[in-house]
Amino acid sequence: MIRRAAADAPPLVTGFPAARHFIDGVFVEGSGEGVIEVVDPCTEEVVAVVPEGTVEDVDRAVAAAVAARSGWAGQLPRQRSELLHSIADRLAENADELSRLESADTGKPLPVSADDVAQAVDTFRFMAGAVRATTSLAAGEYAQDHLSVILREPLGVIGVVTPWNYPLLMAAWKIAPILAAGNTLVLKPSEQTPLTTLKLAELVADLLPPGVLNVVNGYGAVVGARLAEHPDLGMIALTGSVASGRAVARAAAESLKRVHLELGGKAPVLVFPDADLGAAAAALRVAGFWNSGQECGAACRVLVHESVAGEFVERLVGEVRELVVGEPRGGDGVEVGPMVSRAHFERVAGYLERARKDGVRAAVGGEPLDGPGYFIAPTVLVDVPEGAEVAREEIFGPVITVETFTDEDEAVRRANSVSLGLSASVWTENARLAQSVPSRLDFGTVWVNSHLVLASEVPWGGFKGSGYGRDLSLYALDDFSRTKHVMHNRGR
Ligand code: NAD
Repeated sequence: MIRRAAADAPPLVTGFPAARHFIDGVFVEGSGEGVIEVVDPCTEEVVAVVPEGTVEDVDRAVAAAVAARSGWAGQLPRQRSELLHSIADRLAENADELSRLESADTGKPLPVSADDVAQAVDTFRFMAGAVRATTSLAAGEYAQDHLSVILREPLGVIGVVTPWNYPLLMAAWKIAPILAAGNTLVLKPSEQTPLTTLKLAELVADLLPPGVLNVVNGYGAVVGARLAEHPDLGMIALTGSVASGRAVARAAAESLKRVHLELGGKAPVLVFPDADLGAAAAALRVAGFWNSGQECGAACRVLVHESVAGEFVERLVGEVRELVVGEPRGGDGVEVGPMVSRAHFERVAGYLERARKDGVRAAVGGEPLDGPGYFIAPTVLVDVPEGAEVAREEIFGPVITVETFTDEDEAVRRANSVSLGLSASVWTENARLAQSVPSRLDFGTVWVNSHLVLASEVPWGGFKGSGYGRDLSLYALDDFSRTKHVMHNRGR
């Protein structure tokens, strides 16, 4: 059952942001004729139309970012910091409108959107503080009579491509450290969810010097690809799928620009026999279904010891059965929204259909829900055999799979057997396992007795097919800048 909006419920949003590109400090029409429709995934209705960007639009935005580069890089850390704080203030003052806009565009429950906005604000605040306290190797004499000084410099202009699952938050994760480190940027939001990024540009237009932040709407194959190959960019940073990551890395190779990739995830959840099963099941209710499971760190692949599998599945199914699915206007109790688009809905439904044909049993859910809207029932798939498609590939929907293991080595081997390495969790009360298992896992983040807890101070990013580079924390500031060594001969 889907909790729908009441007939007299007010609309989430009354005015949409300017549906144009944001280049050199102003909203402008694109050079092309094409447009992209933005669809509400709850109603399947078109809510806005944005211009389909062209190579010419990208080049214009890059030229503006190049022109703004030295002015922005020349600001003192304190000045850039104050500006980032002003951006955070502006976002916080408009948090309610931003949350509603994000929900109108993505179908997210309002508390999820509100959390996204709060995290976006915190990202700007953290980077505003961090840029005033950067550290590096101490200046000193490391070669006889020569003084070494290490400088951290901006990379120049950075191209950014963001996904649809956290449109505003992923934009903030890039914009804040990129600006803090003294770079200018051109950002392409997902063609499916451009609205909060355009709103952000509108909100900060009078704060930032023209050209420092530019937004070009459009498709990955045109706008994203042009950013990846553009000779005037120092880096291309993409958050998205593995396929897009590969395309960007290939296109960037020609100019040898730096590449920063935050790609997919397939997070294993290792539940050992001594784990607090109730706590683990309750945590997975959130960590598996937050943002409708459209979450790269989602707790989507349980590996549970065979001795406690029955009890754990019972507890997990009990939690998942209670999840409330609905539209953002369906009330505050809604926990799970729709898939973002028809194409993605069909993709997730296809995984469930093939799993069913292969004999995988759904202990709860397992099917799409009646439309309109792209809703899928929160699902737990059990008796999943090793190597099954649903246990290997990123489904990116409200689906948790459960496999069993017999000993620690098997658990670690199977957890590491997927090509993605973004995040994982380990559930145990045993001190030795809590220490040793995380160190054997090939994942960029490993939680112990927790899952999907993030903070601006700590890095986020993957290993293997999940890409390279880190978002958040001082590591992001490092990634978006370059190290220069200046050596003075003082023996003359
Ligand atoms: P996607 O790869 O389809 O799209 C992401 C962005 O890349 C979009 O803006 C798209 O237009 C662009 N793009 C597509 N092809 C491109 C190309 N050839 N060149 C340049 N840009 C191109 O991904 P999505 O479906 O929007 O997002 C879901 C994916 O993102 C999932 O795999 C998810 O795990 C991943 N993700 C990862 C993180 C993380 O932090 N690791 C965070 C959020 C999402």
